Amino acid sequence: HIVNPEDYQPPIWKSYLYQLQQDAPRPKRITCPQEVFHGMISREFADELLARAEGAYLIRESQRQPGSHTLALRFGHQTLNYRLFYDGKHFVGEKRFESVHDLVTDALITLYIETKAAEYIARMTTNPIYEHLGYTSLLKDKMVHRLSRGRTEPRRVTFQRNDRISSPLVRRSALKDTPEKQCSYEKIHNFKVHTFRGPHWCEYCANFMWGLIAQGVRCSDCGLNVHKQCSKLVPSDCQPDLRRIKKVFSCDLTTLVKAHNATRPMVVDMCIQEIEARGMKSEGLYRVSGFTEHIENVRLAFNRDGEKADISASAYADINTITGALKLYLRDLPIPVITFELYSKFIQSAKIPNVESRLEAVHESLLQLPPAHYETLRYLMAHLKRVTLFEKDNLMNSENLGIVFGPTLMQPPELNALTTLNDMRQQKLVVQLMIEHEDVLF
Ligand SMILES: [Zn+2]
Ligand SMILES: [Zn+2]
Repeated sequence: HIVNPEDYQPPIWKSYLYQLQQDAPRPKRITCPQEVFHGMISREFADELLARAEGAYLIRESQRQPGSHTLALRFGHQTLNYRLFYDGKHFVGEKRFESVHDLVTDALITLYIETKAAEYIARMTTNPIYEHLGYTSLLKDKMVHRLSRGRTEPRRVTFQRNDRISSPLVRRSALKDTPEKQCSYEKIHNFKVHTFRGPHWCEYCANFMWGLIAQGVRCSDCGLNVHKQCSKLVPSDCQPDLRRIKKVFSCDLTTLVKAHNATRPMVVDMCIQEIEARGMKSEGLYRVSGFTEHIENVRLAFNRDGEKADISASAYADINTITGALKLYLRDLPIPVITFELYSKFIQSAKIPNVESRLEAVHESLLQLPPAHYETLRYLMAHLKRVTLFEKDNLMNSENLGIVFGPTLMQPPELNALTTLNDMRQQKLVVQLMIEHEDVLF
C-alpha cells in the first residue's frame, strides 16, 4: 500500500540501551610498576590486583601456555579471563580492535548491556517499528512508498496449439499491455557488518545499537541499518539506492532494476529498441561480432550515464556494436538470466523426448525464475522471435540464435569445460524452444 507523505510520523527511537551504555563500567588498566605487561603471574594474584574496581583489567602471560597472553577483566564482581590474540589488531572473538583499551571498552559495554538487559534484548524484535517506518528511503527522499510485498499470483490458463487442448499451464498475467512501471520484485538486503561512528539506532526495532565497533549491519545496496539479530527478520524488500549502485554492467539483475524502479534493465530495453529500429535486416545479426573497443565504449557509456547513454546511429553506426554490447551485458551478469539454481532443471527439460512434456517442463522452470530474470527473458525472446521473421534478410533463424544465446543466457554453476561442452546442445535447444514457442511459454 502507498502511504501518504502527510501521514508520516517520525519513529520514536528507544533510548534505554543507549542510557545503559553510558552507565557501563569504563576500562581501568592496572599497570605493573616494572613492566608493560604483567609477566607470568597466577590467576589468583591477578584476581587480587583487579578486585579494586569494575572494569579493571591487565594482561598476563598464560601459565599453562607460555608465550600466549590472557586478558583478565573485572566485571560483575568476578575476574573473567580471555585468551588474547594479536595479528596487527587485538581480538578475543570476532571483533578486531586497534587497541586493547578499545577491546576492553567494547567488552564492558557488551557485558553490561547483555547482562542488565538480557530479557529486554530478547524481546526487542517482537514489536518492530519497521512497518511504521516505511523504510529508510522515506527518511532520505521523503518519498513514502512502501513496496507491495508478494508477487502477482500466476493465473492458470489453458492454451491451444495445433487445434487440440494441451494440459493446463500456469501463466503469468501479461504485463505487455499494462504500462505499470512500478517494480514490486522481492530483493533481499545485502547486509555487511558495519562500524557506526556516533550513536546509531536500529531501523528495524528502533533500539540503540550498542558497542564500540561492529555494532550492527548495514545493507550495501540501500543503506538500511539494523542489529545483526534484527537483520534476520527484515523482509526481502530492499530498494537499492542509485547512489550506492556504482555500475550497470556486472550488477546483479534484480538489484539494478530495483534501483531504477524498472521492470527490466535499461540496457536490454535500449539495445533492443535500437536494433529493432535499424538493424533487423542486417545480415548475421547477433552472429557477427562488433569491434571490441566499440563494445567496450558502450559498456563504459552505460556505466557512466545509465539510461542517458547515447547508443544512437550517430554514436555507433555499426549495429553489431549494439548486439555485441547486449550480449556482453547478459554474459557479464553475476547471476545469469537463467540462474545457476535452475540451470540443470532447464538442461534436463531439454532432454525430454516428448515435445509436449518438454515444453511443459521448460515452462515450469521459467516460472521459478526470479521476476526480474523472467521479465528480461520474456522481452528478449519476443525480440528474437521478431528477428527470425526477417530471416530472408538477416539469415538468422531460431537455431543459430540458440547457438549464440545458449551460453550467453545460461552457464553451469561450476565452470567445467566438460559439462559446458556436453550441455551445449541442450543450451541451444532451450533457447531455440523459447524463441519458437515464445507466445505460449511466456
Ligand atoms: Zn537493502
Ligand atoms: Zn534491532
